[in-house]
Amino acid sequence: MYRKTEALVDLGAIRQNLAVARRLAPASRIAAVIKANAYGHGLAPVACALQGLADALAVASVDEALELRMAGIAAPLLVLEGACSRDAWREVAANSLVAVVNDPTQVDRLETAGLTSRVPVWVKVDTGMHRLGFQPSELRKVLARLQAAGADPQVVCTHLACADEPADEFTRGQIARFRRCMNGVALPASIANSAAILAWPDTHAEWNRPGYLLYGNSPMGPGAGPAGLRPAMTLRSEIIAIREVGAGEAVGYGTRWRAGRPSIVGTIAAGYADGYPRHAPDGTPILVGDRVCPLVGTVSMDMITVDLTDHGGAAVGDRVELWGRNVSVNEVASMAGTLGYELLTRVSPRVPRSYVDD
Ligand SMILES: *Cc1c(COP(=O)(O)O)cnc(C)c1O
Repeated sequence: MYRKTEALVDLGAIRQNLAVARRLAPASRIAAVIKANAYGHGLAPVACALQGLADALAVASVDEALELRMAGIAAPLLVLEGACSRDAWREVAANSLVAVVNDPTQVDRLETAGLTSRVPVWVKVDTGMHRLGFQPSELRKVLARLQAAGADPQVVCTHLACADEPADEFTRGQIARFRRCMNGVALPASIANSAAILAWPDTHAEWNRPGYLLYGNSPMGPGAGPAGLRPAMTLRSEIIAIREVGAGEAVGYGTRWRAGRPSIVGTIAAGYADGYPRHAPDGTPILVGDRVCPLVGTVSMDMITVDLTDHGGAAVGDRVELWGRNVSVNEVASMAGTLGYELLTRVSPRVPRSYVDD
């Protein structure tokens, strides 16, 4: 590649972050969540790195699971959205997937899919998020119906809406509702996502489902995460042009930024078509060489501009880090009014991923 914009992914860091998730909840098994192209880090390479270390891998859809089987991944695969058609159930059975059952229509489809083997499933209970899952009062009935339909319910799970807010009352309510409906149900449980692993120890159950944490940033946003966490992705590029801009002159679309003093402005070969957030304001940090410099001017499709006036020796060809170990993706996201989750998953296909294993 001649354009130097790339996402460098450290698979060793992802493995280390998995160890952090284990240390935080040593009694729980881990379904490592690698949906959405492993949060932008590359589905198959991340699956290969975690296979054998995580107790299972979790993806959103049957399609993502099939992509992994095609890539030769033999690990237990959990499909979080489950199977929504008879054909999807047949793929679940044929490829030894584990489907989460979230909705009565999924049971209907299973009943008429004509499967000849028993498929293992997780059953989701809606404890307040009101997106997916059965009412807590229906759990026993659903378990019986699944048994009769030829499924093998293995885990009962739920998902938390506010786990990233420590001491939130809503989360307490969700935990209590889940406990109540599990009374007398002799199955393992799964509640915790990354934030709950960090902030809600009483959600740690037989299975936890960390996603974001594995990629090395705290799901609680900017600020210190747990010890040992290492950001796995470095989105980097280079400076492709430098110019002097007189005081009062504008830079970029809409003339959003004007130089308040004679300035030196660098142009970087990455923009919103690469996944850099278009709403990043002036002042968003960018590492140029070993110095943090402020973004100035509107983010373009293929380029951004950075104020190098206080940098001194910056030159065309200098490496820049847009996020990674030095510039936290959470901080860039917070400046742009979004989450690190969105930035990582939206690094575009134009950006080549390269892999190291440190
Ligand atoms: C995406 C997802 C997770 C992982 O959430 P993180 O916040 O990334 O840890 C866990 N459980 C379910 C059901 C999910 O959809």
